[in-house]
Amino acid sequence: MELNENARVDTSQVDDRRGSGGGGGMGIPIPIGGGRGGIVGIIIAVLVALVGGGFGLNAATNGGGSEQGDNTSLEQKCSADDALKQLDCRNTLYVNSIQAYWRTALPEVFGDQYKPSKTVFFSQNVSTGCGSADSGVGPFYCPADDLVYIDLTFYRLLADQLGAEGEFAQPYVLAHEYGHHVQDLLGTEAQMRRQQQRDPQSANTLSVKLELQADCYAGAWAKNATGTSDEQGQKIFKSITDQDIQQAIDTAEKIGDDAIQQRSGRPVNPDEFTHGTSEQRKQWFTKGFSTGDPKACDTFGGSL
Ligand SMILES: [Zn+2]
Repeated sequence: MELNENARVDTSQVDDRRGSGGGGGMGIPIPIGGGRGGIVGIIIAVLVALVGGGFGLNAATNGGGSEQGDNTSLEQKCSADDALKQLDCRNTLYVNSIQAYWRTALPEVFGDQYKPSKTVFFSQNVSTGCGSADSGVGPFYCPADDLVYIDLTFYRLLADQLGAEGEFAQPYVLAHEYGHHVQDLLGTEAQMRRQQQRDPQSANTLSVKLELQADCYAGAWAKNATGTSDEQGQKIFKSITDQDIQQAIDTAEKIGDDAIQQRSGRPVNPDEFTHGTSEQRKQWFTKGFSTGDPKACDTFGGSL
């Protein structure tokens, strides 16, 4: 993968809250990995006894989610010549590309207007519309405040603890979260929550469908990413290689429910799956990528 060094990093699409935290809120966050506390929580909880389910966020307190970060230093850093050497600037550019894609694709494919969503960079803990979260939950989307949240140190964990190395794991993770934002905009997420309430027994199955669809949307973005541009019309990516796509697929496999359960030393229990197996995550990302068409991501339409 090669990013275009002439592309402008639009920091207005992120909210840099590193260095602040706390608070609480209400709602249901959607983390990248399954199980209690999300993927990182699972890793940390390897030493602790585990039970399935739950989202790891403390939604007991309300309010919050309205904190504002300070983008001053990020803006400075990301307008410098060597901006793309910086992880946070690259991630901002990935967000720019993902949103540029949906700005075109959502009206084209679904006839809906895209509403941008910021990505909040936080460290350790953060106050969100879905409750106060710590890094242990992993990256997530909060439908209550329409924001993506990520502690960028997550990538080190992804590489070190799960062996999902390679730069392209990063845009995959972000594109998955923006997939949830798209589901929120299309009403898919709300519909799925209502279904879960009507039929609690199938709550996990429905969650898997939502997650696999987000993986598929990430694949659709990956296919079209080289066509995305910044506001001045500069291409964001110079190239995306097969190896990059393989890295995204590897990551999707590494964070499959069965893989995470195995890694945590627990027996694999399909009843506890909330995000899909490694095979399913790989398949649906690949479906999105090979078709390049979000319409093909119909995980709710039939068998998975
Ligand atoms: Zn997800």
